[in-house]
Amino acid sequence: MSTTKYIFVTGGVSSSLGKGIIAASLAKLLQARGFRVTIQKLDPYINVDPGTLNPYEHGECYVTDDGAETDLDLGHYERFLNVKTSQANNVTTGRIYQSVIEKERRGEFLGKTVQVVPHITNEIKERVQLLGNNGDYDIVITEIGGTVGDIESLPYIEAVRQLRWELGDDNALVIHLTLVPYLSAAKELKTKPTQHSVKTLMESGIKADILVCRTEHELSDDLRTKLALFCNVKREAVIQSIDASTIYDVPNMMLREGLDTVTLKKLNLTAKNEPNLQRWNEFLQRHKNPKSEVRIGLIGKYVELQDSYKSILEAFIHAGAENEVKVHVEYIHSEHIDSATIPERFSKLDGILVAPGFGERGIEGKVDAVRYARENDLPFLGICLGMQMAVIEYARNVLGIKDANSTEMSPDTQNPVISLMENQKSITNMGGTMRLGAWTCDLAEDSIVGNVYGEKTIAERHRHRYEYNNSYKEQFEKAGLRATGTNPETGLVEIVEIPTHPWFVGVQYHPEYKSTVANPHPLFVAFVKAAREHASKK
Ligand code: GLN
Repeated sequence: MSTTKYIFVTGGVSSSLGKGIIAASLAKLLQARGFRVTIQKLDPYINVDPGTLNPYEHGECYVTDDGAETDLDLGHYERFLNVKTSQANNVTTGRIYQSVIEKERRGEFLGKTVQVVPHITNEIKERVQLLGNNGDYDIVITEIGGTVGDIESLPYIEAVRQLRWELGDDNALVIHLTLVPYLSAAKELKTKPTQHSVKTLMESGIKADILVCRTEHELSDDLRTKLALFCNVKREAVIQSIDASTIYDVPNMMLREGLDTVTLKKLNLTAKNEPNLQRWNEFLQRHKNPKSEVRIGLIGKYVELQDSYKSILEAFIHAGAENEVKVHVEYIHSEHIDSATIPERFSKLDGILVAPGFGERGIEGKVDAVRYARENDLPFLGICLGMQMAVIEYARNVLGIKDANSTEMSPDTQNPVISLMENQKSITNMGGTMRLGAWTCDLAEDSIVGNVYGEKTIAERHRHRYEYNNSYKEQFEKAGLRATGTNPETGLVEIVEIPTHPWFVGVQYHPEYKSTVANPHPLFVAFVKAAREHASKK
């Protein structure tokens, strides 16, 4: 019998209340008390994974070591816990149905009518318990995406109801996150939406054990008592989640509210120690008391939605704290860059990051931005498409190959300095077919990256189809664009840098996915340091 305990986090009243951050904060507190914890996200949409989604839909697509394209909340889980997630940590309705339909085609249901209950709900239950069954975790926290009452959430809520019944009261609990809105006309916080939301959950047979109430103002004692009485939870189980200036404050806020203690009590668990948040708090201390500041231009085409570059922004926070500087990220839309205004706009910057992306829109602006950084000794980090743009810019403006391009943007270019790998050419399916997940890379000695990582071989996460074209390698190297990271199996170039520039690095992979509070990514740390040095010279 598994001894794993299960915590389910549901949401009510409104979306975007920060279920992922609450789940990650509770996990952090339990981890800091010595428990082995993981978090899982169940997404009720029908896409098999978010890999085919436009970033405007749900923000960035986060990639795990095992190559899963997942919800960005998994990024928060890794950043908070410093524990790796995998495909099993993110399940969508599409994946559930795909698996059930495949089983039906194989005849595994022995002639039965395949139905939402029990077949879809059983598949959901299996996916939840998969993480707990192998004995790696004491506690599995499962976050249910969406809001209770949504049609598409129903099978998940039913699966939670059944699991709770099967696991027994001591082994499972439900945390319901709701909103307590403030009506400025009445100068009052209102509990009614929360009452209705808890009632909706009850209609599906689930009684919330803990209420986490998102609010802009402190909840008074009276209001907490009222919420407890009308929502049928213990008084101590009404937890306030007030707006925070940084998500990294939330674990301490939840500690003060006692979210971890009510959780442990309900699950009949005794902690070995009080939460040890020393390293976390040291990070917060540095994050909140910067000694100087730098301004980094983030050049991308999805800049209207901050969530599109979530992991990059968080990696800057980790690297900023490490360097004791405040990193101001200035969004620069790659479609709104023109060479006439670049000098004026970019001269205020201490570094440029050209972001990942797909498709032709905005790429000429990215090329112009790289050129400015290269010619003006401005620290530069190019990530994925950003690295590809650095290669194209070098080909065009240093090697003089005016039509150099990527076959993604110009399939018929005579000079495909970035091109599809042979094994990608026959692929027609879009989902899950890119070069994904962790790949090893050998680093050149005496290079920026060799010094930054302090290792000979690294493993970083990828998500792309196009590659540096090795037939141009000799020309590039001769002209000063050095290939300093190579895949040992395929010989593919993963990193380029300019040794004569103060700090110019392009990486085909995504370092941002691996930056955590406990382990800020070395490349971001070094980039921010270079920006700090640039700023101090101004
Ligand atoms: N569009 C490019 C490719 O597919 C880069 C992808 C990215 O930046 N993640 O290779």
